[in-house]
Amino acid sequence: MSFAGRIAMIHNYIFKTACLALLTVAFLSCSTVPLTGRRQLNLIPSSEMLSMSSDQYGQFLKSNKKSTDPKGVQMVQTVGHRIQNAVERYVAQNNMSDRLSGYNWEFNLVESKEVNAWCMPGGKVVVYTGILPVARDEQGLAVVLGHEIAHAIAEHGNERMSQQLLAQYGGAALSELVKDKPQETQQLWMSAFGVGVQYGALLPFSRTQESEADHLGLIFMSMAGYDPRGAVEFWQRMTSQAGGGAPPEILSDHPADATRIAQIQQELPEALKYYTPKK
Ligand SMILES: [Zn+2]
Repeated sequence: MSFAGRIAMIHNYIFKTACLALLTVAFLSCSTVPLTGRRQLNLIPSSEMLSMSSDQYGQFLKSNKKSTDPKGVQMVQTVGHRIQNAVERYVAQNNMSDRLSGYNWEFNLVESKEVNAWCMPGGKVVVYTGILPVARDEQGLAVVLGHEIAHAIAEHGNERMSQQLLAQYGGAALSELVKDKPQETQQLWMSAFGVGVQYGALLPFSRTQESEADHLGLIFMSMAGYDPRGAVEFWQRMTSQAGGGAPPEILSDHPADATRIAQIQQELPEALKYYTPKK
């Protein structure tokens, strides 16, 4: 099915769900974020998220240049697979292996000056060469990949798209949107996953989602054998490379770096319990 066709199906589904929601708000299908237990509104069936992800990922790789730097590619593969392995153990230990059903992991390094990386549903990961100098080494890259993969495991993209769809178009207009505005819906996908969106940094999700991704990410990197204390140093490097141009926290939905670093420091004792240095 084409991307537009899938979007049509999803809108149809969301339209029905939104109507149902008016009647049964309390029973609206919610899922629960691992670790935090927070309830979230995810309107898009995960099967649809996975097939769209696969399409969009393939398209992205076709239109962007993969890095030919063997050292960088090797580092992305090594750290990526270690984090993948940690995530698989984490969900198995917490009886949530269904979170990874349909996952088909891929880790690619793409040539770009952007300081960015993302993970789409299904474990489709891209790291931009621009973030490597900030990551510096495997430990720094493990912070990035732990964090981005945590967003995927916690289904933040689905949540983000669901919220935006309802906020922008409302229930009644959704089925119309797909017929009239396929570009806007594709844009929604892109912005939910930070593809082609230039922030000059990692895509900021909401404050709550960022904190969840930091927290889960610390555990994933620790289980993968990387010292979670590296997260503090990584975010300090991110702050200095941003040149202090970030908006004050009060104006932004995104935790300021100082707040983020303080939170990470508080979570380190817990993360360190999962940490065994890799051989
Ligand atoms: Zn994030």
